[in-house]
Amino acid sequence: AKIRIYQLAKELGMTNDELLKILDDMGVAYKSHASTLEDTTAEAIKELIGEQKVAEAKRKAEEARKSIPHRPPVVVIMGHVDHGKTSLLDYLRKSRIAEKEAGGITQHVGAFEVKTPGGTVVFIDTPGHEAFTTIRQRGAKVADIAVIVIAATEGVMPQTREAIAHARASGAKVIFAANKMDLPGADINKVHQDLMQLGMVPVAYGGDVEVLPISAKTGQGIPDLLETILLTAELEDLRADPKAEAQGVILEARVDKQAGVLVSLLVQQGTLKIGDFVVAGEHWGKIRAMSDAEGARRSEAGPGSAVQVLGFSDLPVAGDTFTWVPDQVAAKEITEERILERKASQEVAELGRARNLADLMRSMHEAEQKEINLILRTDTQGSLEAIQNILAKESTEEVKIHVLLAGVGAPSESDVLLASTANGAILSFNVNPSGSVKKMAEQKGVPLQTFRIIYELIDEIRKMVKGQREPVF
Ligand code: GDP
Repeated sequence: AKIRIYQLAKELGMTNDELLKILDDMGVAYKSHASTLEDTTAEAIKELIGEQKVAEAKRKAEEARKSIPHRPPVVVIMGHVDHGKTSLLDYLRKSRIAEKEAGGITQHVGAFEVKTPGGTVVFIDTPGHEAFTTIRQRGAKVADIAVIVIAATEGVMPQTREAIAHARASGAKVIFAANKMDLPGADINKVHQDLMQLGMVPVAYGGDVEVLPISAKTGQGIPDLLETILLTAELEDLRADPKAEAQGVILEARVDKQAGVLVSLLVQQGTLKIGDFVVAGEHWGKIRAMSDAEGARRSEAGPGSAVQVLGFSDLPVAGDTFTWVPDQVAAKEITEERILERKASQEVAELGRARNLADLMRSMHEAEQKEINLILRTDTQGSLEAIQNILAKESTEEVKIHVLLAGVGAPSESDVLLASTANGAILSFNVNPSGSVKKMAEQKGVPLQTFRIIYELIDEIRKMVKGQREPVF
């Protein structure tokens, strides 16, 4: 049956006049809104309106996003031991206090802000990738940007490579700071060369990897580093809605003899206010007081603010996400539910055993993961290279072998965290993980296997690649 104009208008949710206007524009003749339309005309109009609606919805969504204000980038500082992470944080903290005339009272709240003419940068106040990984491992993404410090007197070292692997796995943008440039032995070219060897081409060589020469001692180059951080953040277009329900991540929690439970947290979205109820993992709190890195009392904390809060009755876990809830009833119910859920899944886990490679393969298969993430640990540089060379040949079009990290020495707890976030496995050759590392791998469900014969290791990999290609059931 042919459709009448008023019927179609109703179907499309528009007024008769609106539809008549479209018909006029299309040059379709009609007598009144009761006239019938050809099927082809009705179809064409439906299509047109559909497209307009989709475009309108897209425009509205983009407008909504654009109306959300920018937030400052959150930066973590990582790198090899003694390359200057702590010194860089100290310098940044000091420069911030120097700007203020007031006599530099600070308190550690897990992160601090550095204000520059170009914008504000939030630095996580703990050096090293372990703290960072523990936080991320619990599901929260904290840092937008990782500054990896490399002493220009030494170049890339094993923990530099680890830091790169951790930062990449978290999806953070990486900026390198070639530190100790004030020393006579500093050689930025060595840093460039080392990074090229890892397949990263510095801007100085026409690539897109930022390497900023700095000195954490003299402060040389640090303004440029801050500027590069802000430029990188601008490209990321980081936004957060201060009006949303407050949400963020627990940075630290401890018990103080006098004050009770002290929790440092970073607000990532929304605005946390005195009197708000929040839940973090299995714990909840009612915010009784807040103070910032300057030691100043705060009544609210918006996106990008790190504050220390009072009001948790027991210790939440660093790295857990916290979220606003309306009241105590909700807070209690949600945390009780979580405790029950954990107990139930613990019982299931206790029935099982440590995950092995076959379990990993199965879960990768279910997730249609086409990349096998591996961490390799060997006894010597020679065996490491030999295994890597063979592995490179085992990658196929369908299944890529991705070595997250390869190094000499026993697998560490930090390796387990990395493998756990990347859903990967740790293979070690001729080196034994310590008991605590084995236990942690078991708890986190990370396959960890030790081999004595290279070909057994390769065989295991081949099985994994095959398992990914064909259904394992
Ligand atoms: P971390 O282990 O990465 O936190 O390294 P630290 O910040 O503790 O620095 C290790 C050593 O290098 C310390 O003795 C610092 O004083 C020194 N250091 C760090 N940065 C610089 C720098 O830019 N120039 C010079 N000359 N020494 C530095």
